[in-house]
Amino acid sequence: MNREEVARQMAVCNACRYCEGLCAVFPAMELRRTFAAGDVDYLSNLCHNCGACYHDCQYAPPHEFAINVPKAMADLREDTYATYAWPAAAQHLFQRNGFVIALSLVLAVAAFIAGFVAVSDPAALFASGTEAGAFYRVMPHNMMVVIFGGAFLFAILSIAIGVTRFWRAAGPMPVTLRSLWRAAKDAGKLRYLDGGGMGCMNENEHPNDKRRLYHHLTFYGFLLCFASTSTGTLFHYVLDWQAPYPWWTPVKIFGVLGGIGLVAGPIGLMIEKRNRLQVLKSEDQGFGAAFLWILLLLGLSGLVLTAFRATPAMGLLLALHLGVVFAFFVTMPYGKFVHGIYRFAALMRHAHEQFAEHGEQVPPPKQPLPRQPAE
Ligand code: SF4
Ligand code: SF4
Repeated sequence: MNREEVARQMAVCNACRYCEGLCAVFPAMELRRTFAAGDVDYLSNLCHNCGACYHDCQYAPPHEFAINVPKAMADLREDTYATYAWPAAAQHLFQRNGFVIALSLVLAVAAFIAGFVAVSDPAALFASGTEAGAFYRVMPHNMMVVIFGGAFLFAILSIAIGVTRFWRAAGPMPVTLRSLWRAAKDAGKLRYLDGGGMGCMNENEHPNDKRRLYHHLTFYGFLLCFASTSTGTLFHYVLDWQAPYPWWTPVKIFGVLGGIGLVAGPIGLMIEKRNRLQVLKSEDQGFGAAFLWILLLLGLSGLVLTAFRATPAMGLLLALHLGVVFAFFVTMPYGKFVHGIYRFAALMRHAHEQFAEHGEQVPPPKQPLPRQPAE
């Protein structure tokens, strides 16, 4: 149903082409005359839901064509994550995503607290610890590696299979270094979240760039946390230096800055979500909200653990943080996390198509701006 609706709207847009300078969706659409399932799935993942084309459209409701590209794309985009998910039995997890993530969080935190008591001296739960190896008194390092390594590898495998299916559905195309680099630059700058230069559309019709800013904080906060974990692994195995680490080490600096990004970014995005034009939103708003909440808890629990690790609360805070990290890993392939991976794949396909068509990726011409921010 959502696929047919996007195909219908793309057929109208392909005849109109007024919005061709706004983002990557319209130049990609113009390379097609028909819109098969793989094509609309691909186009929907190119859309960043900035809302600019809805604002500009002379065929938006109440016109009988009822064109609302951002909403049609958002509805379909969420379907695509379930369509290509692996294993197929897990596809229904997308439908009750908020419940699945909340349940995973509660069970994981409870399991870590029970596990700490079972495998360690229960008194260790209430012992403070800033010296090297303090965390591993509560949970042995090798056990952490097996549990988190296993969950992470399964998540990566599941996402890799899903995105490969998504890629193939839109037709065979090689992955080249050139398109990979172009997509990395476009994703790193969130190039197409600028509403054609005006920013994202909001309820009050004052477009702004806040959504892009908060998205950047979240994305780079996540990358810094990943860098912190990777550096910690090097410290452990190469330098034989055990966690927790002093504040001046790269592990801590990356972790604290990343944690701040993971708190500020999701809070900002939650606020911006409330301010967005209702007509642009997808049917299922719980989907993205659950993802923002788990990212927020990830950053917050890490920061609180860092701040209070020298107190008797260390053991419980470690259980809380590890429980949130574990719940995040196991729900990663079945929630909004995959939007970043699918969008990156779509940007790579777009870059390759544009190189093939133009010899280089010609930036779409910026149309004369027909709209001005409200006074
Ligand atoms: S969104 Fe509306 S104005 Fe823009 S290309 Fe489609 S039909 Fe034309
Ligand atoms: S990115 Fe913005 S302009 Fe492009 S299709 Fe999506 S909502 Fe429309």
